[in-house]
Amino acid sequence: MTLKGKTALVTGSTSGIGLGIAQVLARAGANILLNGFGDPAPALAQIGAHGVKALHHPADLSDVGQIEALFALAEQAFGGVDILVNNAGIQHVAPVEQFPVESWDKIIALNLSAVFHGTRLALPGMRARNWGRIINIASVHGLVGSTGKAAYVAAKHGVVGLTKVVGLETATSNVTCNAICPGWVLTPLVQKQIDDRAAQGGDAVQAQHDLLAEKQPSLAFVTPEHLGELVLFLCSEAGSQVRGAAWNVDGGWLAQ
Ligand code: NAD
Repeated sequence: MTLKGKTALVTGSTSGIGLGIAQVLARAGANILLNGFGDPAPALAQIGAHGVKALHHPADLSDVGQIEALFALAEQAFGGVDILVNNAGIQHVAPVEQFPVESWDKIIALNLSAVFHGTRLALPGMRARNWGRIINIASVHGLVGSTGKAAYVAAKHGVVGLTKVVGLETATSNVTCNAICPGWVLTPLVQKQIDDRAAQGGDAVQAQHDLLAEKQPSLAFVTPEHLGELVLFLCSEAGSQVRGAAWNVDGGWLAQ
């Protein structure tokens, strides 16, 4: 399939899952608006190598004004957003009674509220052009809980709920909204959790094995490429009647 002529905004795409999804969409011909922290040059070079138009905007998505500036650039540089991948997210691990209030606020703002703001800003243009795809990178933690992850689990359950509502509100249109719920993917976000385990004793290889063995029966990581290919399917005609779904890609995590 080709996405030539379409524009995809992938939030949090300077690393990890977002960058992997952006690469798959660029390979299919979509122009890409990247977002995220850090030096965007390597990501821009990787996307540009596919011969598509690529730009980066450094908006901090925990700030509504900066989200609006990101969408203003999308409008001005690309004429709007056809595919919105709400991917940016952070994690903090602590028991609920010790959970720092600041971390709670930051996680809810980025992992949940930014998905709402992106959706409300993208939808009018998608409706006007009579085609759109909103794909929210939730998590298995949008469907089940784990200890220590109060804010993350609350935010991701919220994303799955929001996805259902937007899926219903767009049901008779050519706009769809779905969530993807990955299990463990080896990215900087998860590497930090492996490092924290290793710091409590044992080595990094053992910590990685233990992390997988606790939850993910395949004992193998999901990859950003796997998730990118699912995004591509959701953008295709065959995916056009998948609406309001929360699709887990988790090595069997939720089958238990
Ligand atoms: P990552 O840390 O590799 O990448 C996160 C991206 O978000 C980076 O580009 C970072 O710069 C950006 N970012 C962070 N704070 C931001 C902010 N305030 N504004 C804008 N951008 C910001 O993480 P990842 O593992 O690739 O996670 C991506 C998404 O996938 C997250 O929503 C995460 O919850 C979800 N997820 C990850 C896993 C996993 O195992 N890695 C599993 C399930 C779901």
